[in-house]
Amino acid sequence: MGGVSEGVQHAILEETNFVQGEFPFRYLGVSLNEGRLNKEMFADLLNKMQKALHHWANYKVSYAGKISLINTVIFGLEQFWCSTLLIPKGVLKLVTKFCRNFLWGTVEGQRKLIMKSWSSCCKPHIEGGFNIKEILAWNKCILCKWIWAIETHADSSWVIWNHTYNIKQGGKVQLSLIYEQLRDHDRKISWEKTVWNRVALPKHSVLVVLAMQHKLATIDKLNYRGLHMVNRCILCKADNESHQHLFFKCQFATSIWNRLLKWMKLRGRTDSLKRELHWLAGRRRRRHWKAQWISSCLTALAYSIWEERNSRIFRDVEHNEDYIVRRVQYLVSIRLLYAYHSSYEDEILDSINS
Ligand SMILES: [Zn+2]
Repeated sequence: MGGVSEGVQHAILEETNFVQGEFPFRYLGVSLNEGRLNKEMFADLLNKMQKALHHWANYKVSYAGKISLINTVIFGLEQFWCSTLLIPKGVLKLVTKFCRNFLWGTVEGQRKLIMKSWSSCCKPHIEGGFNIKEILAWNKCILCKWIWAIETHADSSWVIWNHTYNIKQGGKVQLSLIYEQLRDHDRKISWEKTVWNRVALPKHSVLVVLAMQHKLATIDKLNYRGLHMVNRCILCKADNESHQHLFFKCQFATSIWNRLLKWMKLRGRTDSLKRELHWLAGRRRRRHWKAQWISSCLTALAYSIWEERNSRIFRDVEHNEDYIVRRVQYLVSIRLLYAYHSSYEDEILDSINS
């Protein structure tokens, strides 16, 4: 109540039976304040997020699973707030920190080597990222929807800008197009479709992206960061461990790759994950099941090599070549049949069983 004396205020409250409230308060679940929004007003949201993340951190979830959780549940929870308020940068930074710690398994107060920057994780697959939303750009993007609803005059600069950048399609504002205008962009990669496809398991795709960008914690990288360890490949015990060596200069990896190539009736391929991916990316008919057979074998092999390396180092459990070949063949066959069973089932069964 403004502009009236205290006496009049009391009279109004008595007459109407209203109770005088104070800012900040919540209306339809949204915090309202007379001044700028501050961090304290978002304590509920931050607590809920932190609780959810702590809960999931107790389960063994792959990077791909965590990325999916961050994208769906966290942003679902946050979308309600994002769609109604311009959230203070400090709060968004905290949300980003929670998500980043959850993804890399970092515990508060403990140092952990993070190989890939958060901004790079927030890029789309075509730019070598994991398709996580850039939260600040996403908040602005959702609010643009409301500005659009308010600004209906055809001569407004906002409408002209919209038409210029083609963000309005079919009479509706396209959030994805606004988001594209607001987010930071990176250079595109050529092997995106080879790695992220309907046959490859998402956790294999994530591993291959990290391997291609040299973001895995291999011994040579750990030594470079100041951790002094004896550098010897645990798989072949013949050379130093590095990205180039593991994918796939290593004798152990090369031997498995050759057996998988024989299974796919391919000859004369290289011993480099990078060269194979570039070769596959340049092929025509990349979506044909045979092309996806090769690329999913490659991604499954890269994952299995890293998994075997970790198993030997951290659990002291060793598997032989036969075991890994059979496992990759089984996984790839199941995925191929699942993706293409309606059109190519007989052809696929003939090929994988011969
Ligand atoms: Zn080796």
